[in-house]
Amino acid sequence: MVFIAVYKDKCTGCGSCVSTCQNQVLVVDDGLCQVVRKENCKYCMDCVVSCDFDAIKVFV
Ligand code: SF4
Ligand code: SF4
Repeated sequence: MVFIAVYKDKCTGCGSCVSTCQNQVLVVDDGLCQVVRKENCKYCMDCVVSCDFDAIKVFV
C-alpha cells in the first residue's frame, strides 16, 4: 500500500508535481497539492524529485 504525504506547511501549490506525474494521481486544489488517485501511483518518485520545497513524500 502506497502512502503519499503532502506537507501542507511546505507546499506552495506550484503544481510541479502535478505536471510531472504521468498517472494523474495529484491535483492542485485550493492552493495545495491533493492526492486524488492514489491507486494509480506507480511509485516512480518523479513528484518527489520535482518538488523544490520538499513538500511531498511517497512511502511504499
Ligand atoms: S511540487 Fe511540491 S510545492 Fe509544488 S504543488 Fe507539488 S507538493 Fe506542492
Ligand atoms: S510517485 Fe510517480 S506515480 Fe506516484 S504520485 Fe508521484 S509522480 Fe505520480
